[in-house]
Amino acid sequence: MSGASIEKGIEFIKEQIDASTASYFSSCVHCGLCAEACLFFNQTQDPRYIPINKVEPMRRIWEQEYTLWGRLKSALGLTQPVSEQDFADWEELVYDGCSLCGRCSLVCPVGNDISGMIRKIREGFAAAGHAPEGLIGATTRAIEIGSPMGVRLPAVKAQIGHVEDSIDLEIPLDKAGAEYMVLLSSMEIMNFPEYMEAVARIMHQAGKSWTISSKAFEATNSGIQIGVSDLARELVQRVVDAAEELGVKTVISPECGHAYTAIRWEGPNLIGRSYKFKVRHILEVLDEFRSQGLLKTQGLEEARLTYHDPCQIARKGGIVEHPRRLLDMVAKNFVEMPDAGAMNWCCSGGGGVSANERAEGLKLTAFKQKKAQLDAVKVDTLVTACANCRITLEEGLEHYEMDLPVVGLTEMIAEHLVDTSPETPAKENAQ
Ligand code: SF4
Ligand code: SF4
Repeated sequence: MSGASIEKGIEFIKEQIDASTASYFSSCVHCGLCAEACLFFNQTQDPRYIPINKVEPMRRIWEQEYTLWGRLKSALGLTQPVSEQDFADWEELVYDGCSLCGRCSLVCPVGNDISGMIRKIREGFAAAGHAPEGLIGATTRAIEIGSPMGVRLPAVKAQIGHVEDSIDLEIPLDKAGAEYMVLLSSMEIMNFPEYMEAVARIMHQAGKSWTISSKAFEATNSGIQIGVSDLARELVQRVVDAAEELGVKTVISPECGHAYTAIRWEGPNLIGRSYKFKVRHILEVLDEFRSQGLLKTQGLEEARLTYHDPCQIARKGGIVEHPRRLLDMVAKNFVEMPDAGAMNWCCSGGGGVSANERAEGLKLTAFKQKKAQLDAVKVDTLVTACANCRITLEEGLEHYEMDLPVVGLTEMIAEHLVDTSPETPAKENAQ
């Protein structure tokens, strides 16, 4: 982010224009389906928020640099190069008005990955110095401190100590040879320590060895949100180094949507090789334990509840049936929201929007899409599996004066675990 300039921004955007991106621009049939799929356009009806318009500076650069017609237009002065003003005008569309939810990419009839293009154009905007302050701050803290929220290791250790005391189970730190290495998001460490507690109790019941790494406890990858691949790579590398040093078999991505995309799908491409370990989302692990008979629950929630599919986990990660099978174990009155599953609407705070204070008003406007889904089912409890969604949902619900508790699915499962304490070792004997 240092040494930012418009020239550098344009150069970075040019570097992102590969064959598939070029084919996206030439194949767009201007049908407008991506507009209807986007919560930011839907709730504002502002044509600037039409998904394909958000990458218009990239399209212009492609046309002017790589097409005969574009070069001709430039030579005749019929089109102008992308300017400082263009970067200033589009910054808000590229960052505040897109949660990288991927819904537009799913509906495009010619298969344009618009969400992926917005992720790419952010590389140029960050290089041009046109990224939101909130995201710059989060990325700087992630690189310098190890956490976008500035959570340092002593604070993590303190939370671990509190959780250990409350459940009388060990939370292993830097345990070499453990089967699983559990990543956490800062949001969970500070706001939802019940997630850590739930994981400890579930692992204990399943008889699995696990650990948290003191060198790489943070799952969040702000480098991907802001669109700086070098920083994203550095953050992925920390996790890879820690996991390979400890010799774990599987790294578990927490209840955080974009962390899962970062470590599972973007990570190997960023570091240029495959990992020596598997990556699984916590819901995949819980569902595997369920299928192996290692997850034993008792009792059912009486409340009428529904499940919010986090975009990066369901639409982009394919984890749609797993949470429903898990909810079947513990919920009596589960109902689906309209458009649930792969076509679910974003909470409105993904893709770095929630870390961008400037986007607060737009985010709350876009939240009306989620409100409409919730109004249609009238539930008592909302369950989800992403700490960032959870915070965004809680803020939106409070803003629109909707009295609805939001619960993490891992935590809900842990609340129903069969008590195996008579047979289980105490804290000092835990695996
Ligand atoms: S849905 Fe695809 S083809 Fe239609 S306007 Fe959007 S990008 Fe173009
Ligand atoms: S990724 Fe989601 S928020 Fe971004 S433009 Fe597409 S539909 Fe809209």
